[in-house]
Amino acid sequence: MSRVFNKILAFFNLQSGSFVRAIMQPMRFDIFTLFPEVFQPYLQTSILERAQQKGLIEVHLHNIRDYTTDKHHITDDEPYGGGGGMVMKPEPIFAAVESVLGSPPACPVVLLTPQGRTFNHRIAQEYAQLPALALICGRYEGVDERVRKHLVTDELSIGDYVLSGGELPALVVLDAVSRFLPGVLGDPDGATDDSYALGLLEYPHYTRPAEFRGWRVPEVLLSGDHGRIARWRREQALLRTWQRRPDLLEKATLTGEDQAFLERLRSAQENLFQGDNDEV
Ligand code: SAM
Repeated sequence: MSRVFNKILAFFNLQSGSFVRAIMQPMRFDIFTLFPEVFQPYLQTSILERAQQKGLIEVHLHNIRDYTTDKHHITDDEPYGGGGGMVMKPEPIFAAVESVLGSPPACPVVLLTPQGRTFNHRIAQEYAQLPALALICGRYEGVDERVRKHLVTDELSIGDYVLSGGELPALVVLDAVSRFLPGVLGDPDGATDDSYALGLLEYPHYTRPAEFRGWRVPEVLLSGDHGRIARWRREQALLRTWQRRPDLLEKATLTGEDQAFLERLRSAQENLFQGDNDEV
């Protein structure tokens, strides 16, 4: 980065990312839900609150019920074919999305559903490249199939379990995507070591006191030796990933030093098993 650009950033007291976002439009999220009030406490807290205040994200909440046309504002009905539960009607959802975003909608429209592709780091990063994203939250048995077929452009699940509604999944997506926008995290490098960012789980963290109930912080972290600390963190990240998510190591970018460290781990494990067998 040029010295002049650095000076401009310093003048405005900005990190590079927030400067870029400051001259760009905020990322816009449109959330369609029957329970907009669920979102407010989380949106008014910490990182997401600051992201809105800094103009980095804009969150628009739309109550699907406001787009009904009948006297009783009905948004759900019994399923054709019988069976328990209720299904969210298509008309208010189409009306809500199309009146806010046009027809066809001007941005991707994501349905939160346990039947979608599983949301992850990579998907969050991809969506963070876009200027806008719409999220539809289901309730009851879910939405009429015609919403999925003719309105939605993507379906995301946050895991193999069923929640009562799409509001928590929408917040999960909104939060994870926002973290990738320049300037959203106070520390511009805050996300670079996070789990998954480099294809590994992150190393363990410690803070004061140096000793708690007799458990001491690893000596290397108190040494002030930045080279040793960086190496220790890298090795801990490799160790954690090897222990908990060995599948990630197959795709991670590893240096020769990393490979050598993993090789030492593997032979230590083999020696351990060998020792067990000897005893048997
Ligand atoms: N009957 C649906 C099924 O078995 O696939 C589940 C409906 S669930 C009770 C109600 C709503 O919660 C869904 O329409 C969806 O919006 C949301 N939801 C529940 N679990 C979810 C998950 N794991 N990921 C994303 N959204 C979820």
